[in-house]
Amino acid sequence: MLHTSYIELSERAFKNNINYMREQLTNSARYSMVIKGNAYGHGIETMIPLAEKYGVDHFSVFSVSEAMRAKKVVSPQCDIMIMGWIDKSEIEWAILNDVSFYVFTFDRLTAACKTAQRLKKKARIHLELETGMHRTGFSENEMERLIRYIRRYRNNLEIEGICTHYAGAESINNYNRIRQQIKGFNVTARRLSGEGILPRYRHTACSAAVLRYPETIMDLVRVGIANYGFWPSDELRMNHFIDSEKKGVPPMDPLDRVLSWKSTVMSVNFVGAGEYISYGTTYLTNRDTTIATVPVGYGYGYTRTLSNMGHVLLHGKRVRVVGSVNMNMLVIDVSDVKKPKIGDEVVLIGSQGDLKISVSSFGDMTNSLNYELLTRLPSHIPREVVD
Ligand SMILES: *Cc1c(COP(=O)(O)O)cnc(C)c1O
Repeated sequence: MLHTSYIELSERAFKNNINYMREQLTNSARYSMVIKGNAYGHGIETMIPLAEKYGVDHFSVFSVSEAMRAKKVVSPQCDIMIMGWIDKSEIEWAILNDVSFYVFTFDRLTAACKTAQRLKKKARIHLELETGMHRTGFSENEMERLIRYIRRYRNNLEIEGICTHYAGAESINNYNRIRQQIKGFNVTARRLSGEGILPRYRHTACSAAVLRYPETIMDLVRVGIANYGFWPSDELRMNHFIDSEKKGVPPMDPLDRVLSWKSTVMSVNFVGAGEYISYGTTYLTNRDTTIATVPVGYGYGYTRTLSNMGHVLLHGKRVRVVGSVNMNMLVIDVSDVKKPKIGDEVVLIGSQGDLKISVSSFGDMTNSLNYELLTRLPSHIPREVVD
């Protein structure tokens, strides 16, 4: 094994998740799979062919560099959409390669028009509307200027979409804000269509919006986290269970984790009672202890926050991370494991025997930390699709 750890991607879990999310669509909306953040750490190059196998033909990325990576592996009939960063100098690449991109400033709009004019090829753009997230997007008072601009350059632009993003559809705390956003979006969409601007796709829904606000589904959905088997929040997961209960069906989680992260025991040592483990004095043994090292640390995406907090699986048992997580290794207490040996499989995320380490069972971690841990998984760790 050249690398110190590896990632397995479950085809069965992915197929299950994508089917579940498609079943939630109340119409024939197009399904765009969000693969930003290296496909939420799962690997763009590995996930695209797998997704295509199950009928996905639209992929959303954040940046032009992710679009370039996607373009290398995607089939020609699929669409790629950039939702965030594209430098003016790369707009030409996007137009020539039929990659669509968000436009949320006049600066980018001008660059798109000028480049399209020069290339004599239309830029496929998605106008992002500011509806209350207050991050990016054209606001209501920019509409008139926007409409004039679009008319003037109509031969150079294909307004493929109008879109917006919700400020936290996964939490009921944001209910009023989301409702306002939906309303605002629909008003502007009607205004634009009244002006003859009729995009092919109105799109607003992320995973949480698909699950909680079906009216946001419209013509295309941008589903990220749920494809990979994670609920956008614990709240939505619990909601699902409560709904099941009301319907009298057994509560079952319809989403399955796709990713497992595994490594191996690198060394086994014996430590007497009353000794500190690893750097500093954060962990003192209170019994004779058998420890093992695993060649994964914060330099490989295993966050230091999990020092003395994380758990891993070894021989089908849950064992603790002891002492601080180092740059390239961590130490686990394997005293309760029978005959731990160098080379034994260590599961950092995923299952072994009857037990499972989910990203969120790393102690009392928040969901945002889950996402952070996933997207920090280095892209060079080998990823392999398994059944
Ligand atoms: C990340 C993102 C999504 C997908 O969100 P999930 O919660 O992962 O489904 C959709 N739209 C935009 C603009 C995003 O940035």
